[in-house]
Amino acid sequence: MVDLMTQYQKIKPEVDEAILSVIEKAQFINGPEVSLFQKELEDYLNVKHVIPCANGTDALQIALMSLGLKPGDEVITPSFTYIATTEVIALLGLKPVFVEVEGDTFCINPDALRSAITSKTKAIVPVHLYGQAANMEAIMEIANEHGLAVVEDNAQAIGSDYKYKNGSSAKTGTIGHIGCTSFFPSKNLGCYGDGGAIFTNNEDLAGKMRMIANHGQSKRYYHDVVGCNSRLDSIQAAILRIKLRELDGYIAARRSVADHYDNFFSKIEGITVPVRDKYSTHVFHQYTLILDGINRDGLHHYLAEHDVPSMIYYPVPAHRQKMFETFGSADTVLELTDWLTERVISLPIHTEMEQDQLDHICATVKNFITNK
Ligand SMILES: *Cc1c(COP(=O)(O)O)cnc(C)c1O
Repeated sequence: MVDLMTQYQKIKPEVDEAILSVIEKAQFINGPEVSLFQKELEDYLNVKHVIPCANGTDALQIALMSLGLKPGDEVITPSFTYIATTEVIALLGLKPVFVEVEGDTFCINPDALRSAITSKTKAIVPVHLYGQAANMEAIMEIANEHGLAVVEDNAQAIGSDYKYKNGSSAKTGTIGHIGCTSFFPSKNLGCYGDGGAIFTNNEDLAGKMRMIANHGQSKRYYHDVVGCNSRLDSIQAAILRIKLRELDGYIAARRSVADHYDNFFSKIEGITVPVRDKYSTHVFHQYTLILDGINRDGLHHYLAEHDVPSMIYYPVPAHRQKMFETFGSADTVLELTDWLTERVISLPIHTEMEQDQLDHICATVKNFITNK
C-alpha cells in the first residue's frame, strides 16, 4: 500500500546524518530537534502551539483530558473511523455517541451531529478521513451555538488546506479548539517509529496539554494534575524535520496518483471515485472507491491473488465493535455507515508510484469487473 523504502532512498543522506547527529549528542529525549520540529510545524500549520507527543492516539487522549470533562459526559464522533478516535473517549470514562457520516466525504454529517446533541454533550471529534476534510465551518457553527469543544482528528489529513466561504483558509487541525495528528510511518507525514502531535491556538489549553503529556508536572517533581508520559523522541523529530520540508511535494505526488485513478475509474459503472470537496484540498492519505453492484470482497481477494495490495478501511465500524458493547451502541442505527463499510475498498497510494504500477493496478481491477 505504501513504499517507504524508495521514499527513504531519496532523502537517505540527510536522514542518516540527522539520526547520527542525535546519537552522537546523546540528546535522545527533549533534545533541540524536538523544539525545532515543534517550531517548524507551528510555522507550517500557522498555529500558535504544537505539542509533540508519543503517537496519535495519545494526542487524542491528551486533548480530551485537557477539556475537564466528567465521567458520563458525551462526545459525538463518527462511527466510520479508525478505532483510536473512539477508543480514547471510552478510555476516559466518557460516552462516545456515534453519528452518521456523509456519503461522499466519509466525514461526520453536520445534521446528524446536530440531532445527537443532548444536555450531556460536551465535545465533538470530527475526523478528516482518508485526507478529505470534514465540513468544519458547519461543525464550528453548531459547536459555538451549543458551547461544545471541537477536537479534530487530523491523523489522515495533515497539510490539507481548508477554505472558508469568505475565501480565507486554514490548515486542517487548526480550525477546531484542538487538532491531533499521528506520525505513524505510513501517514502522510510519517516518522520511522511512533510519533504524534497536538495543535491549538488556545494558550490555556496548550499549557494544560503540555502539563498532562508530562506527568501533570508544573515544575520539576511537582505534579498538579494526573497526566501521562507521552513524548516524541529526538530521533523521530530529526526525521520529521526533514520530511516536513517534503510534505507539500508528497501531497502533490499523492494527488497526481489520485488524478490518474480518477480518470480511469470514473468511467467504470458501479464505481464511485473519491469526492474532492471544493472547501478543502484532499491530501489522499487513502484512495478509496465505493463499489455498488460489484463484489467488493471478491475484488479484494482477486487483487491479492494478482499481487495488488488493497485494504478495507475499516471492516467493522466503531458502533459495532465488541469494545463498545456496554454502551449498547450496536443498537444505534447508522445505515449509511453500514452500507459504506460493505462497499469501500482502498487502493495503493503513496509518493513513489510509477506509471506502470498504476496501469497494472487499474487493469487488474478492470479485469475482475469485466470477467465477473
Ligand atoms: C493513525 C490514526 C490514529 C492514531 O494514530 P497512532 O499514531 O497510530 O496512535 C487516530 N486516528 C486516525 C483517523 C488515524 O488514522
